[in-house]
Amino acid sequence: MTALSQRATEQLQARARELNARLDQLKAAGLALDLTRGKPAADQLDLSNALDGILRGDYRLKDGTDARNYGGLLGIPEARALGATLLDTTPDRVIAGGNSSLSLMQLVVDAALRVGLWGAGSAWQRETDTPRFLCPVPGYDRHFAICEALGIEMVTVPMTDHGPDMDAVEARVAADPGIRGIWCVPKYSNPTGCVYSDAVVARMAQLPKRAAAHFLVMWDNAYAVHDLEQPSPKLASLAPLTIAAGTDDNVVQFTSTSKITFAGAGVAFLAASPSVVKALEKHMGTMTIGPDKINQLRHVRLLEGRIAQHMQQHAALLRPKFAAVLERLDHSLGDLGIATWTRPKGGYFISLDTLPGIAQRVIERARAIGVTLTPAGATFPYGADPNDCNIRIAPTFPRLADVEAATDVFVLCVELESIEQILARRLAS
Ligand code: PMP
Repeated sequence: MTALSQRATEQLQARARELNARLDQLKAAGLALDLTRGKPAADQLDLSNALDGILRGDYRLKDGTDARNYGGLLGIPEARALGATLLDTTPDRVIAGGNSSLSLMQLVVDAALRVGLWGAGSAWQRETDTPRFLCPVPGYDRHFAICEALGIEMVTVPMTDHGPDMDAVEARVAADPGIRGIWCVPKYSNPTGCVYSDAVVARMAQLPKRAAAHFLVMWDNAYAVHDLEQPSPKLASLAPLTIAAGTDDNVVQFTSTSKITFAGAGVAFLAASPSVVKALEKHMGTMTIGPDKINQLRHVRLLEGRIAQHMQQHAALLRPKFAAVLERLDHSLGDLGIATWTRPKGGYFISLDTLPGIAQRVIERARAIGVTLTPAGATFPYGADPNDCNIRIAPTFPRLADVEAATDVFVLCVELESIEQILARRLAS
């Protein structure tokens, strides 16, 4: 098939008429499909229904503590061990918290900004008027929202297929002493799905040495065990590298069971150096007497020793949905030269780039036909994609038939908007 840009104007006009007619038919069907957020589907949530009632009245921890009572600010030992397994570190470095890793991320950035994680006088707000964070793009909108909420400026750096462009990252950090941190989703990055290469992980472990004091690598390993295929890509373990590099105090890792058990009722974890854990413990001590230890215990009883098996069940449910999207993108857009997309081996998203300048129009057109996608620009700080080309596709939540139907509409919209842009440019030139 010839790339659209190589086709004659009359051919493109005829194809546009066909696509418009097809979309009008679909509009009349009154679709209401949603590919917006990375949520687990109901059948995935069902995999963890045994959480309900799993304790059977036995609230004792292995050390004899009664989980029903106050206390245990850092989480129950069994849950800290579970977090250590997920984050490939040791339990003493782990804090097991409530249901949201995002709230732990906000807590850490807020503490670094206002209180300091590295002793008296280390708060960023004492050191600089305009703390800044590096944001690899496309990236995760809720990370950007944390920065915006706390008044931290964002500076973009490009993503590659192997993680952030480390030449750009290192150059920025060296040139700008106001930069205090970087957001990383090292495995199955949101939204591109890439896994950071060993070289990127090694350079990230060294990065705080190149930066101004009190730099923070925010290592959000939300998809640590969320593989779609086996054997799965391996992410290099960060902690041994930062310990060896002497940057251990400048990295905090995060994960949660949000997409392992119940997205709204899971357990979140962070891992950090002993001194950062101590600083956070002090900070958290005024907020709570302890986390929900009962839910932590439920999770331990459900998942201990069987995370891999449990995640394979998720993968079996998710694989057909990712395959349905990729098959349609390949089949309908594969040879047209108007879009590129990622082929993730895990995680929750596919990232697609259209021709520059039409992502927003594609999304608006799809919405008019009843298919809602993540808003254009959401994968960039301040919601501003400078090329207006990135679209995040989240196929996990709808039923398979709905993923298929939504993607069928989406590819038609991408093709039609591309044709309209090519024709408009021809007219203008
Ligand atoms: N981090 C990333 C990269 C995510 O994609 C998500 C969910 N979309 C989260 C964090 C949310 O985590 P939690 O539910 O633990 O707050």
